[in-house]
Amino acid sequence: MRIFIPAEVEPGETRAALVPSAVRRLVKLGADIHVEAGLGRSLKISDADFRAAGAEVAISRRDGLESAALVLRVRKPPAEEIALLKNGCIHISYLDPFKETALVRQLAGAGVSAISMEMIPRSTVAQKMDALSSQANLAGYAAVLLAASRLDRIFPMMTTPSGTIPPAKVLIIGVGVAGLQAIATAKRLGAVVEAFDTRPAVEEQVKSLGAKFVKIDLGETGQTAQGYARELTPEQLARQRDALAARCAQADVVITTAQIFGKKAPVIVTRTMVEQMNPGSLLIDIAVESGGNVECSRVNEEVEIHGVQVLGPANLAGRVPRAASEMYAGNLVNFIAHFWNPEKRTLHLDPQADILRNCLVTHGGERMTNDQ
Ligand code: NAD
Repeated sequence: MRIFIPAEVEPGETRAALVPSAVRRLVKLGADIHVEAGLGRSLKISDADFRAAGAEVAISRRDGLESAALVLRVRKPPAEEIALLKNGCIHISYLDPFKETALVRQLAGAGVSAISMEMIPRSTVAQKMDALSSQANLAGYAAVLLAASRLDRIFPMMTTPSGTIPPAKVLIIGVGVAGLQAIATAKRLGAVVEAFDTRPAVEEQVKSLGAKFVKIDLGETGQTAQGYARELTPEQLARQRDALAARCAQADVVITTAQIFGKKAPVIVTRTMVEQMNPGSLLIDIAVESGGNVECSRVNEEVEIHGVQVLGPANLAGRVPRAASEMYAGNLVNFIAHFWNPEKRTLHLDPQADILRNCLVTHGGERMTNDQ
């Protein structure tokens, strides 16, 4: 099976879908790997490194796309490149299928079998393919390092002959994968950390990391079968804001990560809440790309309100591109290995199979209805 990996074209994207160690694993399966020249440029990985791992460098991007049976990317395909793909080609990438309905229709119309990495289920068996988790983990880590580098004070308590500096106070709102890693990273740096999530199951996880769980009585909240949070009612959200306003006001750093799968992120920190924070404190909105948890955060912008910095960095995992690409490539290879037919040396897709029922969004010219 010929697999092609084009370089990413989205401005600011530093990750690559495959790295040489992942090429070696695919070659071992019997796949024929072709990469676009310059695929690893942002990672300082040369074409020669990819060749040494067993890949060929394609004549051109166009040739690579036209001749591939399987295309691997990080970001969704540019619309103008879909027509280049062969009928029956399999395409694996992030797709943002809830928003990108026209793109999904186009993929179906071109006879492409499109797999959306966002739709990989959060099950034990699919954990090794779960790019949402691998990238969210790095986002949580990168957000804390960004906060530490931008704060005008330090995270750990420091006792010196000059006096004692108290530890920074960090509040994490939303404790999924990114939030847990943010707690762990902030604790390692010596901060005093507290956290809140609407899913009650999270309390134990927060405590096990040595952080304090902020308790807010919101009534029934619950979670979906996949473990995702349910959307709060407007009354519950108002109660949450009231309770968190005081916690934000005493924090040096607030990191928000709250998301609702397939929907716009809830606005949890209002402008008024930001205005009540101490000048010099800092907010990082990890959910900024899905609508934002902070009323005044903007994608890739830094806003200052009454001396409080509000940062909305997109693609936080892309700030550690080597680790992010290695993890993403690992997720892709695990996916391919799981569905690989060793006799035919090809990827076998049964739309009814476990995992594929969730993440195969177009197949045989049709848009699929996915379980979630
Ligand atoms: P996510 O990115 O969808 O959301 C981040 C967090 O925000 C979640 O913990 C959510 O509960 C929380 N949230 C939503 N609304 C909120 C609000 N108003 N206030 C505060 N917090 C709010 O979540 P995720 O990191 O993708 O994880 C989703 C779920 O999947 C979690 O239960 C996680 O443990 C689970 N998970 C399971 C597996 C697996 O079993 N293979 C792998 C990864 C994640």
